[in-house]
Amino acid sequence: MPEKHFCVHGHFYQPPRVDPFTGEIPQEYGAEPYPNWTEKIYHSCYLPNANAGNFEKISFNIGSTLTHWMEREHPETLQAIIQQENAVTARLGISNGMAQPYYHIIMPLSNRRDKTTLVRWGLHDFQRMFGHLPQGMWLPETAMDLETLDVLAEEGMQFTILAPWQAKRPDLDFTRPYRIALPSGRSMGVFFYNSFLSGEISFNPVATENADRFVHDWLQPQMAFIQRDGPQFYLAASDGELYGHHQPYRDMFLAHLLDGAVESQGILRSYPAGWLRDHPLDQTAEVLENTSWSCHHGIERWRDVCGDAPDATWKKPLREFLSGLCEAVDQVFVELSDGLLEDPWQARDDYAQVITDKVNPNEFVRAHAKKDLSIEETNMLKNLLAAENERLRMLSSDAWFFYDLDRIEPLNALKYAAHATYLTRLASGKDVSEALLPIISRAQSKASGLHGDMAFLSYLSRFQLNY
Ligand SMILES: [Zn+2]
Repeated sequence: MPEKHFCVHGHFYQPPRVDPFTGEIPQEYGAEPYPNWTEKIYHSCYLPNANAGNFEKISFNIGSTLTHWMEREHPETLQAIIQQENAVTARLGISNGMAQPYYHIIMPLSNRRDKTTLVRWGLHDFQRMFGHLPQGMWLPETAMDLETLDVLAEEGMQFTILAPWQAKRPDLDFTRPYRIALPSGRSMGVFFYNSFLSGEISFNPVATENADRFVHDWLQPQMAFIQRDGPQFYLAASDGELYGHHQPYRDMFLAHLLDGAVESQGILRSYPAGWLRDHPLDQTAEVLENTSWSCHHGIERWRDVCGDAPDATWKKPLREFLSGLCEAVDQVFVELSDGLLEDPWQARDDYAQVITDKVNPNEFVRAHAKKDLSIEETNMLKNLLAAENERLRMLSSDAWFFYDLDRIEPLNALKYAAHATYLTRLASGKDVSEALLPIISRAQSKASGLHGDMAFLSYLSRFQLNY
């Protein structure tokens, strides 16, 4: 019998819930008895999975907006997760962790420069936490185009994980990864996950009631299906919050599944990076660009109306407004930093040092300056760089994921947008949002009647009052 390998990947992520006015997460309705959803999910998912040692057994990625929260609120749990990953790295020489772009944005909807910055920030933050770089990067919503894969390759990543329907040929053998050739001449490894196993784990609670039964009734029949010599790799990818939060006690299912149930049946427990080390890529495949794992219409969910979240006519104007704001903020950044910064985009790529390492912003600006700066010039550059950070954060995909504009996620996007606008005005005296207001006025909430421009302008005026 050929070698059969099995791996569960968990994607752990929470959106940025921090209010930019206060720097705190506001009290959230529905999260009782906890003050907010991140805290609630922490108790039902992150904590029990860390306690069970699951971060040593699975392949995982964990978004920076979540780890930074955990670092502040529950540092001992983040330490446990890091130690579990470090144990794998010490044993196997590869990581079972994957990095993630620093903000959870739909990569194909951003330009190459944004892709590069977010990949670099994500890798920087991974290295800071885990003490080394990973071999792979998880893409938000697994959304990609060839440029996204090229940026990953350029930044040294060996692989990512995609849904099987993102492959051009639906009849591919998904029990091995593939090399995707890129127009630049570079290439990227892709593991397409097993859609049946992933779907059953994610959406059929009966499948995950008992780990031994899962192996016997779900995993082994899938494995009997493939008649091919040579080692095979079965990957189940799912939302990490599933294990304990969306489905109670599945942290224990996971622990038992990967600590006996699988191996007792002669199945090997593996990780993508370990597989690649032992089985160099020898097959090629092609991918379908502008696709994802959670929208059945490509990436429409994050820019327009689609069947996954109908009645969402507010999405298109929100996307257009924020895209327009990105261009306007960037234009001011480039114009005003000319002659002052050595390279504005290199400075932005390095800005992770300020966000994650708490490097002093004055020192950071001085280190990237072309000449001696006045206090006014230093302050202006600090504001421009902070605006760049906010304008990247406002693109977090959560804003477009749900059904209505009047929710914390899209409203947070507008708050970060207002902050980016305000910081740019401090630096330049210009209001870059003015010309774009007619666009965001077309975004309206069906639930409450809220208009996007009213929300945005009220946030903008709050910044003026608070500073
Ligand atoms: Zn869709």
